[in-house]
Amino acid sequence: MAATIVILEGDIDVTRLPRSCAAAKATGSRHYFTGRPCPNGHTAARFTSNNGCEECLKAQYRARYAADPEPFRERARRYAKHDPEGNRRRSRGWYARLSPERRQEITAASRERHAAARLELNRRWAAANPTRIRAYRRTTKARRRGAQAGDVVTAQEWMAIKEAAGGRCLRCGRAEPEITLTQDHVVPLSRGGRHRAENLQPLCGRCNRIKAARTIDYRMTT
Ligand SMILES: [Zn+2]
Ligand SMILES: [Zn+2]
Repeated sequence: MAATIVILEGDIDVTRLPRSCAAAKATGSRHYFTGRPCPNGHTAARFTSNNGCEECLKAQYRARYAADPEPFRERARRYAKHDPEGNRRRSRGWYARLSPERRQEITAASRERHAAARLELNRRWAAANPTRIRAYRRTTKARRRGAQAGDVVTAQEWMAIKEAAGGRCLRCGRAEPEITLTQDHVVPLSRGGRHRAENLQPLCGRCNRIKAARTIDYRMTT
């Protein structure tokens, strides 16, 4: 079955249309305009092929779209695939003609429509990459505390640092999993220390708090 593709054009300049169906047929115009309202009260262009009212057809399509948008989207997707370059050109033109308010609405609606999918994608990635997520969170936290731009500690670097310390807190000597090792900055970020592997030592949370904003290198005393 060949799909009929109906493109609802923007507002037609009715003043330039033939004034009767017969005149439209004579000139080959797809529309004509009599200036008389349709049974539904629209004063709009009519189709030469079936005398249908342009506004009535739009209303029909809007109602069908509202009831079930999927066939329309499917058709649009198929059409886009059939003529990708033309489709891009048309949608760019359509978007450019919109008011800034309408553009914002569309952007917001699209964000909302894809929010669940994006969240799910992020969740799945996070579940598959727990160590990278933790490294990312620590970097974000370090940035908030004043680390310099571009400073980064990868999950691998942090793992290597902990391994080098035998999985123990360098101050009290307790080991994971009794305690959780935290990233202590030898030179605190607040004193211009970098958030980089060479400035990190593993301390338990308690020792990290006790050391606070002082520069103490426990790596040299063990
Ligand atoms: Zn009508
Ligand atoms: Zn400790």
